Amino acid sequence: MVEDSELITELSTAVSQLHTEAPPETVLPSEDVLATAREKLVQHLPGIGIGVQEAIRHIREEIAPAFNGSSRSSRYYGFVTGGSTPAASLADNLVTAYDQNVQVHLPQETVATNLEDTALSLLCELLELDPAQWPHRTFTTGATASNLLGLACGREFIIEEAVAARNDSNTSVGDLGIYEAMHRAGIDNIQILTTVPHSSLSKAASVLGIGRASVKTIATQDASHKIDVQLLKKLLEVPGTASIVAISASEVNTGLFATDGIKEMQEIRRLCDVYGAWIHVDGAFGILGRLLSHPDYEVIKRGCEGLDLADSITGDGHKLLNVPYDCGFFLSKHREIASCVFQNPNAAYLSTGDGIETIMSPLNIGLENSRRLRALPVYASLTAYGREGYREMLERQVILSRGIAEFVLDSEDFELLPKFEGSRAEVLSNIYIIVLFKAKNEGLNKELVQRIKASRRIYVSGTAWDGLPACRFAVSNWRADIEKDLPVIKEVLTEVVSSWKAQQ
Ligand SMILES: *Cc1c(COP(=O)(O)O)cnc(C)c1O
Repeated sequence: MVEDSELITELSTAVSQLHTEAPPETVLPSEDVLATAREKLVQHLPGIGIGVQEAIRHIREEIAPAFNGSSRSSRYYGFVTGGSTPAASLADNLVTAYDQNVQVHLPQETVATNLEDTALSLLCELLELDPAQWPHRTFTTGATASNLLGLACGREFIIEEAVAARNDSNTSVGDLGIYEAMHRAGIDNIQILTTVPHSSLSKAASVLGIGRASVKTIATQDASHKIDVQLLKKLLEVPGTASIVAISASEVNTGLFATDGIKEMQEIRRLCDVYGAWIHVDGAFGILGRLLSHPDYEVIKRGCEGLDLADSITGDGHKLLNVPYDCGFFLSKHREIASCVFQNPNAAYLSTGDGIETIMSPLNIGLENSRRLRALPVYASLTAYGREGYREMLERQVILSRGIAEFVLDSEDFELLPKFEGSRAEVLSNIYIIVLFKAKNEGLNKELVQRIKASRRIYVSGTAWDGLPACRFAVSNWRADIEKDLPVIKEVLTEVVSSWKAQQ
């Protein structure tokens, strides 16, 4: 063990160097490097271990070269990946070193649960949400888990509402299961009404026994991301049906927001109150838009207006908040629903011992029982950079996205999506952190994503739009810098077009 402690010091220095060295120039390892690393993976459990030093050497020298630069480079624009601020990265190392288990609120024994709750409260402040209104708040593994929590709480609530409407005895899905609870409540059907939902919403519906088929669109005819309020009303009215309305606050293909201003949100809230529906916001990366204040971001701000009228909100930590994987957050206004769904029953040994506690034990308000101190990187990063620091980081990301969009607009070879009638300024004002586009030539368009990735200098993801392949930049790294990054992006896109033309 003495030997180990010297080793730990030595290796910690090596890890610190990883934090301080410049991010890699290439965002993808070559095929050769990947193949070599795959071959080097230890395939069978050794009887006698290879030792700490050798295990770490093996990882650093033989495996790590084949990791991608997804979070470390500011030029990885795939999915919505996010980076990790220095404060968050360093705090994440501390989480491992201190190895706190955050499950039961034991204020006489550790400050961990206080810290977690405080971090969530700071997060509410960052998002201009009143912490007092969001008593059920917790860190999750990511937005998928947060969506699962949102639908689980919604499911509990809407069935209770239906029971209350029938003036019957109280029932809980948590106690009875969904079949019996629906039966007693006189509900035949649960529907999740939404527009262009993230795939994880359907996954959550599947896991919760609500079913993927219950996810239904309420989009307007001409814009797939916008809510048709008349259609919403019509579906809420269907007898024997309970509803969760899921608002896509910045949908993942285009970055566009489902709602546009406080009036629309108030009307949706009013309708949901009439029909006992739950409003869940999937704001995985969109919710951070509430930070923006400059008039240049008016359209984004309107998309975020009134989201505080929802019952629950999903946010991702490892995207725009720029803390390491795996971190998401979940906020709900309904403290009592939290225990109905997540309470560990009959586990006296897990109680805090205190009478009335304002901080609920994390194990009774979320999925996991034992979990790491996921809050610490968030706490470190929020206190290190504050509101202004985060606003400045996000503005840089939006500015770069709009720079990319301008380049696409000005190019003869590319087309910005979705098609949007309006002036250049109006088109740009809709851009948040996602730029969706295609090549005008269909031949090139089919190969576009592959050819961009093959440069290994920038990374984009492919998607489909209007039945055709499309390409998507998602800027979500705190290092984003238009001066440094845009020239590389332009170079790669220009080179992709010219090499394709040369081959024709
Ligand atoms: C990324 C994303 C999710 C899923 O988030 P994970 O962190 O990958 O679990 C859900 N909703 C939206 C809108 C997203 O962008």
